Amino acid sequence: MRQTRIANHQTCCGCSACKQVCPRRCITMQEDSEGFLYPVVDESKCLDCGLCEKVCPSMSLFSKQVPLKVFAAINIQEDVRLKSSSGGIFSLLAEKCVNQGGTVYGARFTPSWMVEHSGTDRMKDIPFYRGSKYVQSKIGHCFIEVRNLLEEGKPVMFVGTPCQVSGLQLFLGKSYKHLLTVDFVCHGVSSPQIWKWYINDVAKKLVRKSWFNRIIYAKDPIRAIRKIEFRNKDNGWKRFNVVIELAGIQNNRFSSVHYENSYMRSFLLNLNLRPSCYHCSSKEGRSQSDITLADFWNVHRVIEGFDDDKGTSLVLINTEKGALAFNETGCRSQEVKFEDAIQYNPSWRISYEENDKRPVFFQKYKTNFTDFI
Ligand SMILES: Cc1cc2nc3c(=O)[nH]c(=O)nc-3n(C[C@H](O)[C@H](O)[C@H](O)COP(=O)(O)OP(=O)(O)OC[C@H]3O[C@@H](n4cnc5c(N)ncnc54)[C@H](O)[C@@H]3O)c2cc1C
Ligand code: SF4
Ligand code: SF4
Ligand code: SF4
Repeated sequence: MRQTRIANHQTCCGCSACKQVCPRRCITMQEDSEGFLYPVVDESKCLDCGLCEKVCPSMSLFSKQVPLKVFAAINIQEDVRLKSSSGGIFSLLAEKCVNQGGTVYGARFTPSWMVEHSGTDRMKDIPFYRGSKYVQSKIGHCFIEVRNLLEEGKPVMFVGTPCQVSGLQLFLGKSYKHLLTVDFVCHGVSSPQIWKWYINDVAKKLVRKSWFNRIIYAKDPIRAIRKIEFRNKDNGWKRFNVVIELAGIQNNRFSSVHYENSYMRSFLLNLNLRPSCYHCSSKEGRSQSDITLADFWNVHRVIEGFDDDKGTSLVLINTEKGALAFNETGCRSQEVKFEDAIQYNPSWRISYEENDKRPVFFQKYKTNFTDFI
């Protein structure tokens, strides 16, 4: 077994397109020492057909695209907006897709609070996909499922990081009328290994504070977790909190404002990102998504009446199909100039520099997490 020639450690984003396209099923995604998945080829089965290289977004770069139109947007269902990361536009697009008999693919928590992609055609499942999870999601076999649904003529909406959307487009190899692709302006994704360690650490400390949880969950504190929110808006959209809630009713809640939260700081300081995020090949509209979503930071500097601190989305409409889907959402929106909006969201354009302390952080985070942040 060896790592594929395509899986350059610095550029492979882990989209799994190569694994899913391989006709010999000789690629497996295996965790590296930092907890990121990389493809590994069983050479004895490989036909040398080159398909894995053809679908790899780190090798086949799409061209840049400037959005056709740009909007500030708000979902008028207040409860949904408050539970969403920004303006709640994902939920409106997802509801529309399900109403049309389609399937929505996005990232949700697993029972052990890791993050993975899956699909649903049920309205009642949409809340599980709502909200940003700042951890790399596992794609599994979603691209194959998406292709099967599209070949049956069923509508699909796929939401993911720009590199996941690029991987899907290359995997499909052709355009489908019933596919809507949505990505977001992407800071990067962090290591599932660091995330697992972090939630275990928080849960372990909380479990100790409750006699009930101590008896039941001392051996496996993650099992005590009942809710995780990366973007809790109790203190507003701009001062969002990370919230982790455990079983029980007393001493069961952890909440910290994101800029003081050690996990979020390791993410925002670019300590725990996947290596490919430091030289991302899907920036500047290269994913070819129909719609790109983002937080409209500093919206008050661009237009009036859109900053009530409950969340405003920046919506980049990249294609005519995207424009049609967005028009049908019924959200409150106002068109803005692209450059006015994007100046406050550099992640659309640039990859962040790797933090110098990253290698040591990965060696020592279990004992010295807060020393690095
Ligand atoms: C890892 C990550 C980095 C981001 N970086 C930025 C940034 O730098 N600047 C910015 O303005 N916005 C960023 N965003 C996007 C922003 O946080 C909101 O997700 C976006 O504005 C959509 O908000 P919403 O209210 O419309 O929908 P929400 O309900 O918040 O929908 C979120 C959507 O993203 C999907 N999703 C959640 N987590 C993941 C994940 N780990 N991998 C793949 N898909 C996921 C969900 O399935 C859902 O479809 C990032 C999001 C993520 C997940
Ligand atoms: S070259 Fe073909 S058979 Fe070999 S790993 Fe790639 S896709 Fe699979
Ligand atoms: S970027 Fe995607 S397709 Fe390319 S090697 Fe990595 S997992 Fe495979
Ligand atoms: S920064 Fe680029 S490589 Fe990293 S997750 Fe986002 S789109 Fe993928």
